[in-house]
Amino acid sequence: MPTNPVLVVHGGAWAIPDDMVEAHLNGVRNAAAAGWGSLERGGSALDAVEEAIVVMEDDETFDAGRGSFLNRDGKVQLDAFIMDGATLRGGGVGCVERLRNPVRAARKILSESPHVYFVAEGAERFAAEYGIALCRNEELVIPREIERLREYQAQESKSGNDLFAPQILNDMLSHDTVGAVALDRQGNIAASTSTGGTLNKAPGRLGDSSLIGCGCYADNLSAAASTTGWGEPIMKLVLAKWAADRVESGSLPEWVAKEAMNYLKQRLDGHGGIILLDAQGRFGIAHNTPRMAWALQTMKKQEAGITAKGST
Ligand code: ASP
Repeated sequence: MPTNPVLVVHGGAWAIPDDMVEAHLNGVRNAAAAGWGSLERGGSALDAVEEAIVVMEDDETFDAGRGSFLNRDGKVQLDAFIMDGATLRGGGVGCVERLRNPVRAARKILSESPHVYFVAEGAERFAAEYGIALCRNEELVIPREIERLREYQAQESKSGNDLFAPQILNDMLSHDTVGAVALDRQGNIAASTSTGGTLNKAPGRLGDSSLIGCGCYADNLSAAASTTGWGEPIMKLVLAKWAADRVESGSLPEWVAKEAMNYLKQRLDGHGGIILLDAQGRFGIAHNTPRMAWALQTMKKQEAGITAKGST
């Protein structure tokens, strides 16, 4: 019997300012519409998450694709991962500088390569071999981000390069990574996450988003998960797999998503958000940041929100 499809997307979890709420809502709504359109046409969960992510990579609102945060050298360096819950195949790219839609390359890796990851130039070469156009890094850089990096670096030098940055630096940080999880009519689930990483990151730094089981995971037997937030604590806890395992042990995704955020906070004082979906269509959306942008589409309802802490 065909399953009723479900799609959940997120557009980051942080203190999204009031004047950016509308752009985030539009962005996640557009992404959900693209992913849902694909599911309605009979597309797979994998197709749906890819299409949803492409929309958010193309939207400068988010820290993914063009308009992403800049690294310390003023370059955009992108990471993305996509995973198929039916086969456990995954495709990931890290530290790519010349791809507008890293998720497209990640999908090609998943479907065409025996490997799971390609990074930096090798990933770009792989993408080009499979017909994906390369761009110049400058085409991914926008003036808003040049200014944001300049301000951050000015504050940082005032604060004496304190690695454990004082509040003023923390306040400048946002987590606008994008993610999607989907369930298709065949009963398969998939997940994808794409990011420009953290502002002023060291060149070559890889975050949690593209790491299997950290920022993204999917297994039909457990759950599909995508996280956002401060990457280092998330990867230390292998948080997406941690959450999927709990769903496999019988806990409801709604509850597990909240628990994952409590665990992140309590264990490592980390912050972020998560979306979680199982093959029965049960889902959870949770964050321990002031706000999170998300959208949900089922056969019955279409919803999008910028939730405040504790309300999901
Ligand atoms: N988790 C991402 C990273 O650390 C950042 C984010 O979610 O905004 O690279």
